[in-house]
Amino acid sequence: MRAVVFKSPYEVNVEQVEDPKIGSPRDALLRVTTSGICGSDLHMYEGRTGASPGIIFGHEIMGIIEEVGDGVVGLKPGDRVVLPFNVACGFCFNCVRGFTSACLTVNPHGVSGGYGYVDMGPYRGGQAEQVLVPFADFNCLKLPGSEEDELEDDFVLLSDIFPTGYHGAVLAGVFPGSTVAVFGAGPVGLMAAYSASLMGAGEIYVVDFIPERLEKARQIGAIPIDFSKGDPVGRIMELRMKSGLKPGEEKMPGVLCGVDAVGYQARDTKNPGKENPSQVLEDLARLVNPTGSIGIVGVYFTKDPRGVDDPARKGNFLLPWGRFFEKGIAIGMGQTPVKKYNAILRDLIVDGRAKPSFVISHRIPLSKVPEAYRKFDERTEGHTKVVIKPKMH
Ligand code: NAD
Ligand code: ZN
Repeated sequence: MRAVVFKSPYEVNVEQVEDPKIGSPRDALLRVTTSGICGSDLHMYEGRTGASPGIIFGHEIMGIIEEVGDGVVGLKPGDRVVLPFNVACGFCFNCVRGFTSACLTVNPHGVSGGYGYVDMGPYRGGQAEQVLVPFADFNCLKLPGSEEDELEDDFVLLSDIFPTGYHGAVLAGVFPGSTVAVFGAGPVGLMAAYSASLMGAGEIYVVDFIPERLEKARQIGAIPIDFSKGDPVGRIMELRMKSGLKPGEEKMPGVLCGVDAVGYQARDTKNPGKENPSQVLEDLARLVNPTGSIGIVGVYFTKDPRGVDDPARKGNFLLPWGRFFEKGIAIGMGQTPVKKYNAILRDLIVDGRAKPSFVISHRIPLSKVPEAYRKFDERTEGHTKVVIKPKMH
């Protein structure tokens, strides 16, 4: 089969690789109909993780079951499914409590498994024609309809960015009427803003500096804030004060809910050509009101060969901890346990109450993947979210 293989920083190839085969009775073999390229793939692509060459990329996967092992009871060939990017067993201490993002049994070298990702176990990625699904009964979410119907591109986002945006909003404590600021208008940030609006948030600000991404934020009813035009925190507070704070809110001109959908490769807002890994957390420390909450879904790694300085190369960042404590802010972070959310979000899509595919900008065949990585990495030519269609030529 053909698959996207990581060769070296800034280089991926589409190569002929060995077909996957059922190895355990609990495996299933999936023919991939759509898979996504994620901002998380770019960290590996840029050589900003410990990823070694040879990995088949791709953790946002949906398709049709082709074959199941003897021990699979709930799936059969022909079933249409989407996979959480987490690979999980379903029976360990963490899985049974819903934390499939920290499965204790699937990764021989640590906690938590995933497809096509550094340090997340031996699972090949799904930017390919086929993928092997371990513990298939647990890891497949069944979908109605048929291949490439009008919901295909909504469903594929259930593998990662829709649940991840939603998780960011959950960790940020979003509630009906709440004030929310999302940093990052990449696919994850846009999904966080969209989720906050599904949850009934009152005001949603989205910060970035890429015009077409900010435009997508505006289209879903959020207020776009371009950080290249000045301090985003000051601008949000100004807008909040202009629109009229609620009685008693005078000492709280910020927001109650903050989402970091950027992570450690954040740009310095005063000098966007440079990185400042703690920029977003510094901004959130100023912007989030006392008693508020912050959800961090943008990633921070413990290994970054090209980090801005020595501590950053080991994942150590200087943070305004005193400010967080003084304000009594709750902070939640980490990899998304996709299974906590994917079924309810699927049902919102099926009922026509959510249409997350507005975020997708490009649909491409496998042959165009190397070029798409380049452009998505440069965030140019409107590359907001790219999905791959292995059948397309
Ligand atoms: P992305 O990396 O393209 O989006 C990041 C956006 O942040 C860009 O549009 C960029 O212009 C903007 N940005 C940079 N510096 C900023 C700043 N100082 N303030 C505001 N915005 C700034 O792609 P993405 O797919 O949206 O991914 C975002 C992050 O989410 C990545 O770190 C990715 O690895 C992570 N992620 C985490 C999980 C999880 O399970 N927690 C899952 C998926 C993705
Ligand atoms: Zn992803």
